[in-house]
Amino acid sequence: MRTDRDHALSLDAADPLARFREAFVVADPGLVYLDGNSLGRLPAATERRLAAAVREEWGARLVRGWGEGWYEAPRRIGAKIARLVGASPDEVIVSDSTSVNLWKLLVAALLDRPDRRVVVTDDLNFPSDLYLIDGAVRLLGGGRSVRLVRSRDGIGIDAGDLAAAVDGDVAVVALTQTAFRSGFLHDLAAVTALAHEAGALVLWDLSHSAGAVPIDLDGAGADLAVGCTYKYLNGGPGSPAFLFVRRGLQERLGNPLTGWFGHDRPFDFDLAYAPAPGLRRFLAGTPPVLSLLGVEGGVDLLLEAGIEAVREKSVRQTEYLVALWEERLAPLGVSLKSPRDPARRGSHVSLGHPDGLRVDRALIEEMGVIPDFRAPDNIRFGIAPLYNSFVDVWEAVDRLRRVLAERRHEKYSAAPPAVT
Ligand SMILES: *Cc1c(COP(=O)(O)O)cnc(C)c1O
Repeated sequence: MRTDRDHALSLDAADPLARFREAFVVADPGLVYLDGNSLGRLPAATERRLAAAVREEWGARLVRGWGEGWYEAPRRIGAKIARLVGASPDEVIVSDSTSVNLWKLLVAALLDRPDRRVVVTDDLNFPSDLYLIDGAVRLLGGGRSVRLVRSRDGIGIDAGDLAAAVDGDVAVVALTQTAFRSGFLHDLAAVTALAHEAGALVLWDLSHSAGAVPIDLDGAGADLAVGCTYKYLNGGPGSPAFLFVRRGLQERLGNPLTGWFGHDRPFDFDLAYAPAPGLRRFLAGTPPVLSLLGVEGGVDLLLEAGIEAVREKSVRQTEYLVALWEERLAPLGVSLKSPRDPARRGSHVSLGHPDGLRVDRALIEEMGVIPDFRAPDNIRFGIAPLYNSFVDVWEAVDRLRRVLAERRHEKYSAAPPAVT
């Protein structure tokens, strides 16, 4: 393995996706931004789209905007995201946050399986998901409980351990496909098949997968899914999330948040609730239109690049990072906290160091690198192949090496900030 910077430059020169970086706003070309798994960069088309939406749609068209595209936008943009996750256009809709969407689909699934009492999840799941699963089980009561599959190494979930947890008592298997801390990637098709063999529904959180790994929800026969749009889809801070309900389940499940946007005829203003046919019933209230319109630009770029090409580059880049880690950082006491096998890894790599938080601070404050930190000791490097170069990866490793070699991190406080 060549560890020199020229090699990274030659990899970039041969990269068929390199031109996509120009489609993003890069305010500081020297900044190595490796946090696209937390907040993706701003697509230039989105900057223009939002300016026009404010000025021409809200400003000039006012309430007429609802009849000129806003009302349809959750379905229209959902249909585009559907192409990234292997779903039909009428199986994905954009609305609310990931947390709220997870709640809606989880409660809908539990109420659909009243004879089964168990929700299976794992301890690598995102805490918000675990809190919501816990809250739904407590709210619905009736002897329901959570069965938490524990990771043996803090990095991945053993397929046998998961299989052993899924039996005839299970109503829903609710998992995040790509683990937020380690990047461990569940085998979506295999776990879906496992859940179905036991007669359970499966609910996937695709937040760290959408826009990073190819997903085939329909091919796998998956039932339900949610996912974030402000990570690899580059939708902007707090942009609304998507939800997926398999076509065959849409008429059977009910949305527990029975708001007027999910009503069959919201503008009849009937006193009684009647669910819309199809996926629209999973809307609740008025969507955040400006944020929603901001989702489209990033999705268009991913569709143009092709998710297979994005994944291929992502694997080459995470492999490159792992190889550089082994040569240059492992000797300095940095560990690999992500799966070694790229087939079991999403698009971020976690490196461990006992002083991880202070190292992260030093990278951000004085080295021009933005990763992020997840307790207890993980420094996460998120790679977004549409705008991250091989030189970005090389620079991140080199600057991390310098922080440690020059002990630059030691002047920072080890007290955690409010937001990481
Ligand atoms: C980012 C993320 C979320 C975020 O949920 P919000 O409702 O947008 O705050 C939820 N689940 C997972 C797995 C995530 O990675």
